[in-house]
Amino acid sequence: MNEKIVLKNGNIIDENGKVTENINVYVSDGKIDKVTREITNGYDEVDCTGNYITPGFVNLHTHSPMNIMKGIAEDISIDNWFNEKIFPYESKLTNEDIYWGAVIASAEMLNNGVTAFADHYFAQEEVYKAVEDMGIRADIAPTIFGLAADYRNQLNEAIDFVEKYQGKNSRISLRLGPHAPYTCPGDKLTEIINAAKKLKVGIHIHVSETEEQVDDSIKNTGKTPIEILYESGGFDVDVIIAHGLWTKKEDLKFI
Ligand SMILES: [Zn+2]
Repeated sequence: MNEKIVLKNGNIIDENGKVTENINVYVSDGKIDKVTREITNGYDEVDCTGNYITPGFVNLHTHSPMNIMKGIAEDISIDNWFNEKIFPYESKLTNEDIYWGAVIASAEMLNNGVTAFADHYFAQEEVYKAVEDMGIRADIAPTIFGLAADYRNQLNEAIDFVEKYQGKNSRISLRLGPHAPYTCPGDKLTEIINAAKKLKVGIHIHVSETEEQVDDSIKNTGKTPIEILYESGGFDVDVIIAHGLWTKKEDLKFI
């Protein structure tokens, strides 16, 4: 599609945070032709007067289908949130629910200037379809729970998903999603990371999300979650660390 548009009379924020006011950005087929105050005809105009023009925002950690669960549980501990509220609800989700949850999340993100997101969830074929349909960009990781009874199945399905879809859509990249070091104990995290290496993809993982997780990790293994990730080979691949709020100063030597 040969599309020519001009973002007219907007204020550009560049990569250094510098603002250039009242200027036009000419775009052909999704690529910037020129940035100028001069007027060129033949472009469809989008009046940006009073608005800012920036690169799209990137949301680095989402469970986009959970958009439809907003507000079902607030002001409770993360354990109760998961075990009492979210897991029972999640276990009843259909593939169609997951698709529409991701569609609604994508619409909300686009409406707020987010043009790409890194997602971590189950049934990621549905999120893949939603991303294709919505025109947003995404990095999609199927969640793998090492503690789950069907762990082996989850890992195999995630590998199949990556093999089937990697490189099929230029807006979408894929990686594996081990849930967290504490939910992928023993050699399971290493196994998932080795599978990612074989597939030549990265991983997306929750690490040191709460103080309790870090304390429990040190109590049970003598290591922080970051150290476990390091020893499992997690930094040999491209890694998205979700949260990382309780990363310790001593952890920095592993990163
Ligand atoms: Zn998360």
